[in-house]
Amino acid sequence: MMDESSGTLKGLQDIDLLLEKARARMEEFDPLLADLEKPALALEEEVATLKNRLQEMKLEERRLEHSADARRSRTRMLQERLKSVRNLREEAAVQAELDLVRRALEGEEHEALALLDHIRKAEVRLEELQLAAKVARDEVEPRRIELLKEREVLAEELAILEDRRKVYAARIPAGELRSYERIRGGHRTLAVASLTPDGACGYCFNMVPIQIQNEIRRGAALISCEACGILLGPGEEGAP
Ligand SMILES: [Zn+2]
Repeated sequence: MMDESSGTLKGLQDIDLLLEKARARMEEFDPLLADLEKPALALEEEVATLKNRLQEMKLEERRLEHSADARRSRTRMLQERLKSVRNLREEAAVQAELDLVRRALEGEEHEALALLDHIRKAEVRLEELQLAAKVARDEVEPRRIELLKEREVLAEELAILEDRRKVYAARIPAGELRSYERIRGGHRTLAVASLTPDGACGYCFNMVPIQIQNEIRRGAALISCEACGILLGPGEEGAP
């Protein structure tokens, strides 16, 4: 076994591989949650859109009612005036305006009725949609809570691993650590490999010259594979 005071690059790499696995699992959560919520979110969005539309229709309906009220009082006023016209010309003029106002009023009342009908239908649809959204939401909620809990647990594991990595890396000679980080920084999964029992690179399986094998087994210096550049450590029999 390895002496506790100094870490090996192989040991560091083992932690890094665990870290990568945990981070990859962590990244799976967002798409999972998004997929899970998709139907409920789509319905909730529909509810919101329809609510806005309903509000617009109600405002428009109120505007029509106000306008119709104004035309009704104008009609009453014109009807009063008809009683006090002084000649036929005046009567014709008042009558003409009265007809105009009545026609406009009729149009508006018609429009308001049609709008009220739309509003009633939209309200029914809104209720249906709200119910469907609630059902969809209730259906995914337990699984969502479960996923969030799993993510929380994984986040704790990740924090512990990150801590462990920091402590472990501090036990590795600075020069070795730099070589290791440089190789892994190039987005290679592995920076360290062991010699195989017959003296090949454990990563690319190219044979390593005997003299270099010996140096690696002695563990005197950090040596890279000439073929693939990975850092080579002694095989299983010699070290961790
Ligand atoms: Zn190699």
